[in-house]
Amino acid sequence: MPELPEVEITARRLDRGLAGTEVESALAPGMVALKSVSPPLSALAGRTIESVGRVGKMPIVEFAGDGEPIAMLVHLMSAGRLQVFEKRASLRDRRSRVLIRLAGGRELRLREFGTKQRAWAKLMPAAAIADDEMVATLGPEAWPAPPLDRLAELVAEPRHLHPMLRDQRLIAGIGRSWVDEILWEARLSPFKKGADLDPAEIERLHAALHVLGDAIEHYEDVVGDIVPDKMPMPLRVHRRQGEPCPRCGATLAAVHFAEHLTTYCPDEQTAGRVLKDRRLSRLLK
Ligand SMILES: [Zn+2]
Repeated sequence: MPELPEVEITARRLDRGLAGTEVESALAPGMVALKSVSPPLSALAGRTIESVGRVGKMPIVEFAGDGEPIAMLVHLMSAGRLQVFEKRASLRDRRSRVLIRLAGGRELRLREFGTKQRAWAKLMPAAAIADDEMVATLGPEAWPAPPLDRLAELVAEPRHLHPMLRDQRLIAGIGRSWVDEILWEARLSPFKKGADLDPAEIERLHAALHVLGDAIEHYEDVVGDIVPDKMPMPLRVHRRQGEPCPRCGATLAAVHFAEHLTTYCPDEQTAGRVLKDRRLSRLLK
């Protein structure tokens, strides 16, 4: 669930709290969470955290020390969190995936809610990050927004906007929550195809990306040093079907597209039409 704004504030808070902190040791209780063998996790001991940043929806922690800088690329998937704790985790905590024990007793922890182990971390020389498959295949960052003509080129494909904008290879940082907000802000149907957008619609889509920047500003105001498990997301339409549209007052509707539920305003985004549930209609065929 963490998308660009949530990962950005996570990285900013971790960077502020951890830069310059020494690593005592590191371990990976989530057996499948560490996706690399070289450099080994033990190479982090004695290094200091240089910075915490982000690319797309993935946090990156950099460690300085003897030899070349090492980076840890993290994929939170849908239920992962990267957080700092004042005390070390109990080794019986089943949510722990990677534990980085810091000087002074604190711990940087990759945790994951739920039963599935999908979140992962990968260690590599910092210089290799840009060439990593997960990074090299990303499209431009969704925020700050790419230039208008670049966005126009990117979306000129015969694909529905809802899945297309969540495709990290096309544009990086947008997931299920913020795609609803962006399309509502732009007054565009989730089922409109990118190639069918006229110039005015592309301009609206481009302008709508500011909701990501607004969310980061909101988090700067309300998120303290410790990033909470559940982020106070300033969502206006996502998952609010049945409630009045905050802009026009029409009743927000929701429709399944593949496995995802998308919320929209029928009056402003789909010319008054309430969309058929495409998942259900497929089952009934
Ligand atoms: Zn509306």
